[in-house]
Amino acid sequence: MTSRKQIAKPKVAFFDFASCEGCQLTVVDALQTHVELLDAVEIVQFREASSERREDYQIAFVEGSITRPQDEERLRRIREQAAVLVALGACAHTGCVNALKNLHKPEDVRRWVYGDCADWYETYAARPLSAVVKVDAVIPGCPIDRHEFVEVVKAVLVGKKPPIPDYPVCVECKLKGNVCVFHVGKTCLGPVTRAGCGAICPTHGDGCEGCRGLIPHPNENAMEEVLDEVGLTLDQIMGQFTMFNAYREVENGEWAQ
Ligand code: SF4
Ligand code: SF4
Ligand code: SF4
Repeated sequence: MTSRKQIAKPKVAFFDFASCEGCQLTVVDALQTHVELLDAVEIVQFREASSERREDYQIAFVEGSITRPQDEERLRRIREQAAVLVALGACAHTGCVNALKNLHKPEDVRRWVYGDCADWYETYAARPLSAVVKVDAVIPGCPIDRHEFVEVVKAVLVGKKPPIPDYPVCVECKLKGNVCVFHVGKTCLGPVTRAGCGAICPTHGDGCEGCRGLIPHPNENAMEEVLDEVGLTLDQIMGQFTMFNAYREVENGEWAQ
């Protein structure tokens, strides 16, 4: 009698750079309700959830922004090993709130945070993974959406492009029949922000703050005009655009100091 040869499962690893680790926590949460994923892959490294620490992974999920020169070296090693590298969450995808410091002079930032010990810490402008290495897929959001994480894993496992929307949050918001928050005196970046969260903030009465990054070719000028028309000052408009997207705005020269 011949025995059936077991097909090796793809080996997956999770890594983190500058982040709050909330996206990894969402992964742990998602794996509890989608245990079928644990049958489909072998997790060989995941500091937040396992003591396993192997380097023979093929798929790397990387959380966090790059904020120090030595981070680049570690990220490049991960990239060399991984056949597929996925940016996990807004810190890795856009730079997220870490990039707020890019709006200020690096020496000022170091002094505010570390005081007299500022010179001990080597840190530079925060940046997304894609500023350093090729990224094969992204899971947007602060934190990620657990359902989207599951869908991205399934797509990666069958070699498909992950299904990340390229239309704005307003589409999901309208489909839900929400009252636009602009009608109740609030503001929202939904017209220029990438959908996929189910318009969760407007659905609960708050404006979108752009945590999933902007859509391709956003009409930022029109968005600024709308925010201006409802009475926001230039500083407040800048605050809206840079809350989660400061890296992009500074790189584009929009709100440089
Ligand atoms: S994207 Fe948000 S939740 Fe995820 S690690 Fe960064 S700060 Fe935390
Ligand atoms: S609340 Fe925001 S997302 Fe919803 S329709 Fe208005 S602008 Fe668009
Ligand atoms: S509505 Fe905007 S801020 Fe809220 S989760 Fe979605 S993309 Fe993020």
